Amino acid sequence: MKISVAKNAGFCMGVQRAVEMALNASHRYPPPIYTFGPLIHNPQVLGLLAEKGISVLDGIPEKGSGTVLIRAHGVPPDTKARLEKAGFNVIDATCPRVIKVQAIIQKHAGEGYASIILGDRDHPEVAGLLGYAGDNGHVVGSIHELEALETFDKAIIVAQTTQNTLLFDSVKAWAQKNHPHYKVFETICGSTEQRQSETQRLAEGVDAMIVVGGRESGNTKRLVEIVRETGKPACHIETENDLDMEILKSAEHIGITAGASTPNWIIKRIYRIIESLPFEGDEGWKRRFLPFQRFALATNAYIAVGAGALCYACAVLQEVRNPFPYILISALYILSMHTLNNLTGLKEARYNNPDMAAFFEAHKVNMILLALVSGGTGLFVAASMGILPFVLLFIMTLLGLSYNLKLVPESIQNARFRSIRDIPGSKTVLISLAWGVVTALFPILAATGAITWATIPTVAWAVGTVFVRTAFFEILDMQGDQIVGKNTIPILLGKKPTLALLRLTLLFLFVIMFLSVVSGILPGLALGLLLCPIYLSVVISFHRRAYIRPGVWLEFLTESQFLLAGLITLIWSIGFRH
Ligand code: SF4
Repeated sequence: MKISVAKNAGFCMGVQRAVEMALNASHRYPPPIYTFGPLIHNPQVLGLLAEKGISVLDGIPEKGSGTVLIRAHGVPPDTKARLEKAGFNVIDATCPRVIKVQAIIQKHAGEGYASIILGDRDHPEVAGLLGYAGDNGHVVGSIHELEALETFDKAIIVAQTTQNTLLFDSVKAWAQKNHPHYKVFETICGSTEQRQSETQRLAEGVDAMIVVGGRESGNTKRLVEIVRETGKPACHIETENDLDMEILKSAEHIGITAGASTPNWIIKRIYRIIESLPFEGDEGWKRRFLPFQRFALATNAYIAVGAGALCYACAVLQEVRNPFPYILISALYILSMHTLNNLTGLKEARYNNPDMAAFFEAHKVNMILLALVSGGTGLFVAASMGILPFVLLFIMTLLGLSYNLKLVPESIQNARFRSIRDIPGSKTVLISLAWGVVTALFPILAATGAITWATIPTVAWAVGTVFVRTAFFEILDMQGDQIVGKNTIPILLGKKPTLALLRLTLLFLFVIMFLSVVSGILPGLALGLLLCPIYLSVVISFHRRAYIRPGVWLEFLTESQFLLAGLITLIWSIGFRH
């Protein structure tokens, strides 16, 4: 069974911007925080906003306090003025593309034009646009209603930004034929057009479509109509609980699209669930391999093996003799720390990694035991090797455990950061450093009590590789992280700058490994390990081109870079080492 996901599925620019502004407002301004009407037509997101203290204001009271956010649809100008007059701090999150339509109407209304708006009369965006038309605004929903209007000396025609493009095309043709003096403006948002045409193309090439989005969302309902017009079955769902297996079970190729108010993490959840459902006649090796992958990723077993493999490569690069105890310690330390991290981050995982969250919630006690036993065993093995390995690992364990602890007491007021995790971007940096220390620095220090020239590029390579992997996962989790208020590097820098930073880091790793071999600091193995940054950049680029969607496979392939490093080292040790 194959799954294709529309590139334009999910939040459009305007909705993304409005959600970000609402979340920022909840951090910046004192409560109460309201949105004027539901921020988007998505009950799951509204539930999350309510959890963050952002509620919905349905009318304008005479006196009010707090902050009110105007949503992406916009409002009539007098509504904004009335909110301010009532005493609210008003934040305008009207989408810039809607503002453009408002400005066209306002300008022409001032010049005596009638405004004809093609749209849904009850839609808030249309109500807002009408407010700019003065007393000569008219809403039509069809050619029939258009024909029923009087003839104007001067008129403009605009469309609600999410209107059906085919209907607007027929309106333009009608105006050209009957009233060529009417001015027609192309106001349908590009993202709506792309979403609709991509949905049509996708539906034509698959056996069944899943359309994800709120039941009340107009643009989602339009996507369902478009799918049905192609003759393919459409399953309109808000969450995974609405999946209709009768429609899907016999499909060999399923398409997924989503409305403009559907967050990425819901699309990701649906993808992950469909990816792992048993389908008729689906007996391929990929399907049989999937339960193993899910288990290995959810339990952190795969990442622990990866840490061991990375440690093996780093130890051989630095010519550490008998690396096995360090491989074991690295695997146990990473298993323990990642498991503890997952246990304390279950709230975020609910959105970003539902597989893992469900697994941890179902086996909480076992996972706590796993973290304690693996951490304790690592310390025991280190102690059996001598005082220095034990002290090093003990300090690293304490640092790992202190990440979530409140280090600044509540009695100290106005402290910006109370724990290390509050520092923006700290998670990515600390995870990378911890991996670098345990897999690259610890083996040489514990074995010889000193470092060599080879340690510098080796640690840089281990830290850089883990940094890219961690920041890449954070890019995939951006929306979920924003909702729970996490300050990751992609949230801090933005998606594109973070991707540029990852590319630069991979290039840096490539150069530093190459130069270290040329200058004789590292053995020839480092040339073979250049394959790892190349492999990781191919995985990232395949994801960017939508060949691999966020799901079990993407996670598995990304984590596999460490095993690749271990495998290259093994081959080199057997065949090329002198
Ligand atoms: S659909 Fe287009 S116009 Fe409407 S909110 Fe989204 S980006 Fe803005």
